[in-house]
Formats: sequence, C-alpha cells, structure tokens
Amino acid sequence: MALPADFTFSDPFNPTPNPALISDEARIQFWGDQARARLTWGVPFTEENTHSFKKPVSLGLDADGVEQFTIPKIKWFEGGKLNVAYNCVDRHVEAGRGNKTALLFEGEPGDREAISYAELQKRVAKATHGLEKLGVAKGDRVVIYLPVIPETIIFTLACARIGAIHSLVFGGFSAEALRFRVEDTGAKVLITTDGQNRRGSVVPVKVNADDACTGENKIEHIIVVDRTAGTAEARASVPWAQDRDVWYHELIANVPDTHEAPLHDAEDPLFIIYTSGTTGKPKGLVHTMGGYLTQTAYTHALLYDLLPDVEGEDGTRRPDELSTVNDPAKVESAVHWCTADLAWVTAHTYEIYGPLVNGVTEVIYEGTPNTPTFERHFEILERYKVTNYYTAPTLIRSLMGAFPQGPQAGKFDFSSIKLLGSVGESINPEAWHWLYTHIGGNNASFIDTWWQSETGSTVCSPRPHDPQFAPAGTYPDGAPRTSLKPGCATRAVPGISTRVVDEKGDPVETGTQGFIVVDKIGPSMARTVWGNPQRYLDSYWKHYGERGWFLAGDGAKQDAEGDTYILGRIDDVINISGHRLSTIEIESALITHETVIEAGVCPIEDELTGHQAVAFVTLSKAGNTLSTQELKTVLSEHIRHEIGPIAKPKDVVAVADIPKTRSGKITRRLLSQLYEGKALGDRSSLQNEEALDAIARVIAAH
Ligand code: ATP
Ligand code: MG
Repeated sequence: MALPADFTFSDPFNPTPNPALISDEARIQFWGDQARARLTWGVPFTEENTHSFKKPVSLGLDADGVEQFTIPKIKWFEGGKLNVAYNCVDRHVEAGRGNKTALLFEGEPGDREAISYAELQKRVAKATHGLEKLGVAKGDRVVIYLPVIPETIIFTLACARIGAIHSLVFGGFSAEALRFRVEDTGAKVLITTDGQNRRGSVVPVKVNADDACTGENKIEHIIVVDRTAGTAEARASVPWAQDRDVWYHELIANVPDTHEAPLHDAEDPLFIIYTSGTTGKPKGLVHTMGGYLTQTAYTHALLYDLLPDVEGEDGTRRPDELSTVNDPAKVESAVHWCTADLAWVTAHTYEIYGPLVNGVTEVIYEGTPNTPTFERHFEILERYKVTNYYTAPTLIRSLMGAFPQGPQAGKFDFSSIKLLGSVGESINPEAWHWLYTHIGGNNASFIDTWWQSETGSTVCSPRPHDPQFAPAGTYPDGAPRTSLKPGCATRAVPGISTRVVDEKGDPVETGTQGFIVVDKIGPSMARTVWGNPQRYLDSYWKHYGERGWFLAGDGAKQDAEGDTYILGRIDDVINISGHRLSTIEIESALITHETVIEAGVCPIEDELTGHQAVAFVTLSKAGNTLSTQELKTVLSEHIRHEIGPIAKPKDVVAVADIPKTRSGKITRRLLSQLYEGKALGDRSSLQNEEALDAIARVIAAH
C-alpha cells in the first residue's frame, strides 16, 4: 500500500501521520485491508465495522436496585467466516512452508524439541480430535492449566479450531486461583499436567486441578499431559478419578493426524483472558476471532520488523507501516522469543497467535530465568540465535540485580539480537539502559509496548528501526534523533489513536499527568467481560460514554513532541496538596540510587495534604549498611533532588520482597492497605503472598 502523499520521515521511530488521524473512513478501510490481505477467509466479510457506544442509556433498576445501562457493542468484519487455527498453521503448510520451524522448545531440565509447521499441524489435528471425542463443541469453555510446553499451544489452537473458548491459566497458580477461573468460565474440560518442573525439582500439579474442581462447576473431564511421570508405573501414582480423568497420550492414541477445519464467524468468541488483577479482582475479557487475529497479525508484523522497507526521499529506509504483506526474507530470518508465560495476554498475542499467524520461528522456554543459574536466558538467546527478545521490566531488573555490569564479558554472543521489547509495566530508564547496552549491544531497536488484556494488542510503542538508516537531526530538547526515549511508549500504532485528557475529556498540557484513553479503537478490543457486561461498561466506557472513548485506567503524560509516557494506574496516583504524582516516577528515581534494587511506592491518606507517598524498597549491599533513619534521609534527599520536595516520601520501609502479581506487576494497593493497617483486598493473583506477612512484621516493628 502506498504511503499517504503527506507522509514524512521526520522521526524514525514515530512516524506521522498515523492513518488513524486522517479520517475514520481511512482507519476502518485500513483495518479492512489488513484483514483481507493478512488472513485467509472462508467467506469474505461484508461490513468492516459497526460500533454502538454512544452515551449509555439507562435501562432502569435491576433486582438489587442497581441502575442498569445499555452496553457498548463492537463488531468487526461481520459476515466473514474463518478458522483461526487454519490461519496460524495449515495455510503455511499448504503454501509449501511445512518444513519451517514453528517452535523451538526448551524444557527447564534441558530437554529440547524443534517442531515444524507440518508437525504442528498434525499435533493440532490430533488434539482437536481428542477434544471432540470428549464432547467439546463450539462455544464450550476449556480451561488450559499448563506450563510453557508445546502442548499448551497445541491445545489452544485445537480449541480455536473447534470454536471452543479457551481460557489459559498460569501453571503456577494455586488451586484457589484455578477454581475461580474454572467456575467463572463454566468450563467443561480442564487440561493439566501430572507435575511441573519448577526451579530444578518436580512438583505435583494434578492435585491442584482436583482441588479446583471440588466445588460447584461444570467440569466433565480433566485431560492430563504426562510432563514429569514418564513411565506407566509413575503415572499409576497420580491421583485419578476414573470416569472423569484421561491421559492425553491415551486420548489421542488412535485418532487421525488430519482434521478438516470448520469455519466460524468473525465475531465468535476465541478466548477469555483474565487480567493480571493488579487493581482488584481479575476481569475475564472476551476476545473474538476475526478482529483479534487481524490486529494481532498486523501489530506483530509492525513491531517485530516483518514489514517490507521503503526508502524515503532522503535515502533513509524504514518499514512501510501501511503494508498489508510481510517481507518474506524478514519472516524467514526472524527468531522470536517472548518470555511471558503462555497464560498472559502478552503471550496470547505475541507468543501464540502473532508469531504463528505470521509464520515465523519462535522459542518457547518452560522454566524460570534463574534455573539452574541466572545465565539461563543468556544461553537461550545465544543457542537459538534469537533476533527479538520481548520481556518484562521485572525480569530485566532481576537480571540487572544479578549482573549489574552485564553478563561476563565475552562469554555470550548476542550478535543475533536486532530488537528488544518490554511490556507489563513502565520500564525505568535504568533497566532500559541495562538491556539496551548489555544485551542489545547499543545497537538494537527497543520497543516499549503499552497495552492491556482489554486492548488485545499493542496500543502505543516506538517502531523498530535500522540504526544505520536513522536520519540525523535532533529533538527539540537537543537529544540526537537516533536515540530512543527510554521508558517512553511514544505513540499509538497505525489504525488506532490515543489521547491524554483530564477528568472532563479536555487535553492536558504538555508534561501534565492525565488519563490515557483510546479514542479510536482497533478490531482487537475486548468485546465484553465474561458473564458481567455491566463491569465492562462501568470499568471502561461509562466515564467518557458520550464521546465513546475507552478509559484505559492508566495515568500518562505527553512530552513536547506528543510522545506518551505511562505513569501507572489511576488508582495508584498520589495526589499531594493538589499535585498529581506518579508512583512509577518516584520508583524510577529511587532505583537510580545505589542503595535500592527495587521500589514500590504507594499513596497513603493524609488529612492535611490528601495523600503522602510511602516507599517500600529492597536494598543493595550498599543499602544494607544504613540504619532505618539514614536510609530515609538519603532517599528523601535523593527524591527531592530528582523530582522535587513535594515527592519526598513520608516514610521509607526496607523490605525483603515487594508483592507482585504472577505477571510481575507491583501491587501498590496492597502496600497502601498494609501500611494503613486496613483489610487486604484480592490476593489471588500474587506470586509471593508470603511477602505480605513479612512486610506486615516490618511495619509493626518500624
Ligand atoms: P487489572 O486490570 O486486573 O488491574 P492489569 O491491568 O495489571 O490487571 P493486564 O491487562 O495484564 O492486567 O496489564 C495491563 C496494564 O499493564 C496496563 O494497563 C499498564 O498499567 C501496564 N502496562 C503494560 N505495558 C506497559 C508499558 N509498556 N508501560 C507501562 N505500563 C504498562
Ligand atoms: Mg488493567
């Protein structure tokens, strides 16, 4: 597709104009073109997009006396029929690319397997027959409670093939967390393993699945993948319910390895994804087939540099952002590694559906990054010649803690790496620089992708670039144009747009904190909250209902160039004497101090000023030599210097561990509750619940 006539190459990372900003028609046309060109449709769609999210209209009171409103309805590519699994696997085989490696799997104990697209096609066919044998049909829910192993992807695609709605649950979740998802989805089948490899040992997991299914639920069968038993004898000791449970290898022993893919409507649900639960009880968001896969395919190609290059008048080259096709040479050479657990939305989009729909090779790794040592990721990057390394700030910070000066000089070869990516939280500039320097060799693209379970795919991100071709010149602040902006998610990808606005929806001034909204959404936006459409309305659409904007729930600010910095949750914003401060900014400043490894800052109510900030920090060796009072003094002074006196924390509490969700996000709401001695809210998503008790003890003795 040709670039618009007024397209300029002014900024190598953030081109303008974004087609979303040209007109609504152009934007919808853009997505229609992407959908037609990138996906294989059994029946073409007739209508690109219909929305109805004007001001919600009251429907009166419900039985509990709560006023009900009309819920926004979003539809993309109506009339179209497709099969998502066919698009991710079969069509590549039919195109003669069956020998291309789809998955490079590495297990935690070191077992490895390369799976081609042709092999993946067979395994998905078998798993599909297996599910069908158990009566799984279109619209049924299937909960997939597995670690990062090929079967997780295979079952996900098998569900998509049938049209059964999958919901992946992190393999490290407890029976309670699993129970909530089994019951909330009303799943018919649960898939699990006998045991899991975790930090060098084998832990039983089937027992969690059994526990999760003891209450009221609709589970008819549990499929068990033998991941750790290995022999008939060992399998015999796995707890078993004869009529309900079935071994995966027995289920598929005699089924064919081909399967005719049925067609589904573009708006049929594909999956339910539960949010990380950072701000409260997780929400089960529903994503649909055609829209989700379109935006996933496009953004994966855009952000991971699969689009063909075009040359500008000044000789610079950059990816053609509006291309509806990929560059075959780029697809051939990419080795993608998204380190997220497959159950997170990050992995759904950029580890399951994105890489596969685009036909690239990707690495999946079962274990934790520090098993057996913290060098595991470095080894994987080198072994598979990874080109794209997409990970999370929490992981980068822990690598940085283990290797402050980077990996041992000369020990690993990272020359294959072309692109680094971060997602999940704002990345503090320290961690950004560490990754850029020590893994990226000061010479890689860096995409800081801001998005959510709700948006289904990346909303804001810098674009990949070839440093060789980046144009000269400077930003208004004097920084060279070839430099990226650490910790900045920059701006919306083509086809959607965002604004940073105040409570009323008016734009905020440059540098001032406001709310980020998606004012023009794309086809991968979640359609509802499973079983709770009212929560969908209340959480996202009601606030700016009249304008039809999606309230993301994060604070943000823009710089003079219109680039957006994400400043954390609205709920976490600290309002001190009318000054709105971002927890993330204070945390980022704390981490630059030599005494601090990690920081979690939370708002505490204050009669005089509204809020005060309290900082929880984990300490480096240097920090451990200081007394509580000394620490408070040096860190308060540091914050005063870095941000200003208004941001000085009321208190600094040194702790061993900061509470985080399973996806690595700091749960600041729990820090506030702990400090204020209030009842603790939902804890089901925590990875380190024990940190709460430890912190409570520290506070009591503080
Ligand atoms: P809940 O909605 O239940 O509180 P959650 O918002 O943590 O949970 P996710 O959808 O997994 O659940 O996470 C999305 C959120 O993660 C974003 O709203 C944002 O706060 C944060 N986030 C993700 N990527 C980035 C990024 N690159 N920069 C800053 N924040 C990010
Ligand atoms: Mg959220």
